Amino acid sequence: MKKLIFTSAITLLLLPLGQGQNIGISTTGAPAKASALLNVNATNLGLLTPRVPLAPVKICGTMENLEILKALDPSLEKRMESNELILQQAIKDMSERTPSEKQQSPIPKGWIPTTNAVITIPVVVHVLWNTASENITDAQVISQIDVLNKDYSRTNLDTSLIPAPWKNIATNTGIQFCLAKIDPLGNPTNGIIRKQSSNTVFNKTNASPKSNATGGDNAWDTYKYFNIWVCDLGGTLLGYAEFSNSTKSNTFGAVIHYQTFGTTGNVWSSYKQGRSATHEIGHCWNLRHTWGDDGGACTGSDFCADTPNQANYCNKANPAFPELDACATASPGYMFCNYMDYSLDKDKYMFTKDQSDRMNLSITSFYPSLITSTACQPSGTSVNNISAELPVSIYPNPTSGKIQVAVSSSSSSQYKIEIYNLLGEKVHSTLINLAGNTSNGVNNHSSIINLDVSKGIYFYQISSENNSISTGKLIIQ
Ligand SMILES: [Zn+2]
Repeated sequence: MKKLIFTSAITLLLLPLGQGQNIGISTTGAPAKASALLNVNATNLGLLTPRVPLAPVKICGTMENLEILKALDPSLEKRMESNELILQQAIKDMSERTPSEKQQSPIPKGWIPTTNAVITIPVVVHVLWNTASENITDAQVISQIDVLNKDYSRTNLDTSLIPAPWKNIATNTGIQFCLAKIDPLGNPTNGIIRKQSSNTVFNKTNASPKSNATGGDNAWDTYKYFNIWVCDLGGTLLGYAEFSNSTKSNTFGAVIHYQTFGTTGNVWSSYKQGRSATHEIGHCWNLRHTWGDDGGACTGSDFCADTPNQANYCNKANPAFPELDACATASPGYMFCNYMDYSLDKDKYMFTKDQSDRMNLSITSFYPSLITSTACQPSGTSVNNISAELPVSIYPNPTSGKIQVAVSSSSSSQYKIEIYNLLGEKVHSTLINLAGNTSNGVNNHSSIINLDVSKGIYFYQISSENNSISTGKLIIQ
């Protein structure tokens, strides 16, 4: 919502950061006018003043949660300031890449932890329930993961509603989510934990959903799993999130009210399209509200230059393009349809390119181990130790649907090839006898397999008669 101006962030990273100190950040390289500076300080990070929303029926509690975390951790403000500069530097590096380099991967050179352009994040959902109706079904959980994958890849059907001026900046973020298949002890899981609690309503402190001690459930290793807690948050709170630039947190993740999680089950009528989780997880990757949480002052920032300035959140039941306010006084107005606004679920359906860069670079900067986590791969001895025991190669990968599987092994000639989607559902299984050529006592087998599955991200598992296995990610495009 505000142009960012980078001066010399690398130098600035070395400066001590005092509270209230203003740091000029520019993407133009030109000397920044004082009035144009993006000031990374406690005030515009929303750290000093609790941001009181006007009066929507249901709200996001992320900024209030930040105030609570700040009170618990005196070093949080400075850590977030420093990490914001790291993030801004990564965004600057990204802006300097050539178009072909950007096409290869959303991640800048030097930051690439994977050969695939798509980041796939293992998810564990903690369902905390007091009454039976709060113990939501697996189907409701799966419907939410499906929404996340559509919204974050811009394959949501309502992307067609994006007003013309914003169609070119609405983007596929390249971020996807999968339900974990392996728990932290190496046991199989469907990525959903259920726990009954004596708490009738959870809150952010003395009845936190994130701790066994307060009637909730401890996070799984936040560096290998993205944690989502689903529970009753009362009547007005949709959810809340923790920003990843607070770093090194064992409570990192998102909390979502069970009646706005997914698209099926007992969900609230205006919040039944799964967009509360889309919004809160955006916060986890350091997206801010599009209006900048400045109480209408037009001076706050969401650190994204391609979202228009905005006075306050959209509180209209049926916004219509263009929506104008005190900070967006002319068409195209403010971006009411952005996932990071407060519009009802039916009225928000896009992330911008700058938001996508910010999210991707937040993941690679602060939680890169989520990208390489093997927690979604369908089997193995441990989430820390899933290895390709079976010497297998699959190519091409990405593929249009046909793959060649080659195995070099003397142990077996019969293999089972199974393909799983991000929800952990098996979508393909083939049993093959591979005719081999013996070389030095080792059979070199290969076979071509046609996969009749739709485009997307999958995991393959190849197992032999003696149970040696190989697992990995497969992209159908
Ligand atoms: Zn929010």
